[in-house]
Amino acid sequence: MKDISEIRSDFPILGRKVYGKALVYFDNGATTQKPQCVIDAVNEILTQKNGNIHRGVHYLSDMASEAYENARQKVASFINASKKEEIVFTSGTTGSINALAFSFGEKYVKEGDEIIVSHLEHHANIVPWQMLCERKGALLKVIPVNQSGELLLDEYYRLLSPRTRIVAVTQASNALGTVTPLREIIDAAHAVNVPVLVDGAQGIQHGIVDVRQLDCDFYAFSGHKIYGPTGIGVLYGKENLLNDLPPYQGGGDMVEKVTFEKTTYNQLPFKFEAGTMNYAGAAGLGTALDYVSSLGREDIALREKELLRYATQKLSSTDRVRIFGNSSNKISTISFLIEGIHQYDTGMVLDKMGIAVRTGTHCAQPVMDFYGIEGTVRASMCFYNTFDEIDALVAGIEQVKKMF
Ligand code: PLP
Repeated sequence: MKDISEIRSDFPILGRKVYGKALVYFDNGATTQKPQCVIDAVNEILTQKNGNIHRGVHYLSDMASEAYENARQKVASFINASKKEEIVFTSGTTGSINALAFSFGEKYVKEGDEIIVSHLEHHANIVPWQMLCERKGALLKVIPVNQSGELLLDEYYRLLSPRTRIVAVTQASNALGTVTPLREIIDAAHAVNVPVLVDGAQGIQHGIVDVRQLDCDFYAFSGHKIYGPTGIGVLYGKENLLNDLPPYQGGGDMVEKVTFEKTTYNQLPFKFEAGTMNYAGAAGLGTALDYVSSLGREDIALREKELLRYATQKLSSTDRVRIFGNSSNKISTISFLIEGIHQYDTGMVLDKMGIAVRTGTHCAQPVMDFYGIEGTVRASMCFYNTFDEIDALVAGIEQVKKMF
């Protein structure tokens, strides 16, 4: 892997100051910073190749379409999909899950059916399924967790029933960092012919994701959480499954032939891409994936494990700090509270020191309810963070304790 100072210099924003202090960015779970190559890729589309995709015969439209389809191929290779037609571009993980919940729900879910999610889910992987359940009279079943924030697999096995239509589960909890046992979850669902959606929003950026090896049926992620632009995301689906699903939005590009009597739909993946798509964002995402690959995904995972180990050791030996989520398998995310101090106060004082952390429920209210708390402070690290920054966080926590 490149030297850390070289890596950091790839990200212009990491060099800036906040309130006159060096920026310590520990909110990578919310969104990651962008390397210059991604900024350049988006800029190149907007300044050199801007034309609406798949529509024009003119030069700029061709250039933009080519960049967009190249990005699709890069995503397919990155997650090892069988073919690029299995990659549907969306606005992000939320867009992907909503699309699937609507489309899958229209086709396969009826009254009395069941959908399984886990207690660790982000709201994006709860609410769309809940909305579907309300529309169809179906039931949401929830895999419970233990005090360490790990899923209780035996309970999951008991929840699977002949009424289960789909299992939708996160790869890693954004609130606690827990990595879920996807192998076991997917195998058990497949044993009873139930497809599985993996919410990869907090998984894809931390290691190698191979959808064929994993054998998940659907996989969703956001570009902006893997060093790409906002407003672009991916819904991967196995070709036969996507082919069987109805479109979820109507409009331009998703059609084959339109008459007032009947419309026929385009082939994959365009059937699910109505309207003008975010082609500049897609190009930026493709470049972000190239960048991550160039660093080496195994090396990224190793470095982040080291950061997690160091931060866990430091924070757990800091007086009055309680860590939430103690699974032995975690991404580099630590949720904590300082005893007697509200998470917002901690976050605000840290912010004034230039340290960006996330505070609140992390869009995972059920997890907070499980621990009987209103929220936590979350430090989500990635490969460009340093051990010195973790020391700065610990020093910041000491400062917070003095103030309250
Ligand atoms: N799922 C998980 C696990 C997340 O952490 C997030 C965002 O934090 C989402 C879904 C939603 O992602 P987005 O807001 O990019 O759609």
